Amino acid sequence: MSLIDGYDRQHRDLRVSVTDKCSLRCAYCMPAEGLPWLPSQEILSQDELIRLVGLAVQSGISSVRLTGGEPLLRTDIVEIVHAIKSLRDAPSVAMTTNGLRLTELAQDLATAGLDRVNVSLDTLQPDRFAQMTRRNQLPQTLAGIAAAQAAGLEPVKVNAVLLRDVNQADAADLLAWALTVGVQLRFIEQMPLDPQHSWTAADFVSVSEILAQLTSAGFRLIAQPRRDAAPASQWRITEVPAGITPVDSEPRLGVVASVSDPFCGSCDRLRLTADGQFRSCLFARKETDLRTPLRAGASDAELLALMRLDLAAKARGHGIDEPGFTQPDRPMSAIGG
Ligand code: SAM
Ligand code: SF4
Repeated sequence: MSLIDGYDRQHRDLRVSVTDKCSLRCAYCMPAEGLPWLPSQEILSQDELIRLVGLAVQSGISSVRLTGGEPLLRTDIVEIVHAIKSLRDAPSVAMTTNGLRLTELAQDLATAGLDRVNVSLDTLQPDRFAQMTRRNQLPQTLAGIAAAQAAGLEPVKVNAVLLRDVNQADAADLLAWALTVGVQLRFIEQMPLDPQHSWTAADFVSVSEILAQLTSAGFRLIAQPRRDAAPASQWRITEVPAGITPVDSEPRLGVVASVSDPFCGSCDRLRLTADGQFRSCLFARKETDLRTPLRAGASDAELLALMRLDLAAKARGHGIDEPGFTQPDRPMSAIGG
């Protein structure tokens, strides 16, 4: 039986946070001092996590993304990838990572069956990278991206969030670099998930501002028809400024306009947090505890019934633009980005 909500949306994509811990402190995601991490006994074991993912796969989930926190901090991450790829009707498995441990792990992850990787990188300026992530590790991130390419985790996608008056002016540099090294860049609008609850609608840099910046820097971009449920809209790049030679014969840019042009109507995503809470939306105010019943001996049918009950209450949209909107209680790093 498939996972369909009250608005007839069929869910095929599961985002699994494998840890809430992180090695960076990106300003829009975590406070400088970090967050109170989840107690280790509350984190799903590998067997528990694989059981819940397996149930979701039996119910029509065909793509799984491992995220966090920083998924590569989990010491059994390669085994987790292998175990998911060993499930009956194995889904595609992707990962979103800050890339810091990819130099060590990219080849093992690829061998274990990882299909794709998205690496987050918001600037190529070392000082700004250190300011935004509160760690001085740009070279490690770049080396991680190169390692993912060398391991064949292609196409490597790079996620960038632009913050007003911080790295807002870096869009063209990031795109020029991405085209030259052969990674697919995606700009993601900053969402109201920051831990200090300081986001305001006037602050975030919208996709239309980003596209205008790129055009004035000499890029020509043509919108491509939207694929159902894909969060990123694709733009074909038909002209680049002088001196840039794209590696790809059909260069593209992705933009995720979650705030200015929400795609909730075709959303097919579900989430499982590192402590076994099932969420039907990143912005849900309610989540369903699967860990407690799972540890108390619940049957597969009982766990699936809990997932379906949660999904039945999934809201039509994230409501960011509605009066009275409140951020979810958990930060993005704990829900899984
Ligand atoms: N640590 C990994 C990483 O950074 O790729 C995975 C987790 S992180 C929460 C996943 C993605 O969420 C990253 O691309 C990050 O830039 C993005 N992100 C975090 N906070 C965000 C926010 N408030 N708005 C938009 N994207 C955000
Ligand atoms: Fe860590 Fe990713 Fe959040 Fe940055 S965005 S603090 S790398 S979880």
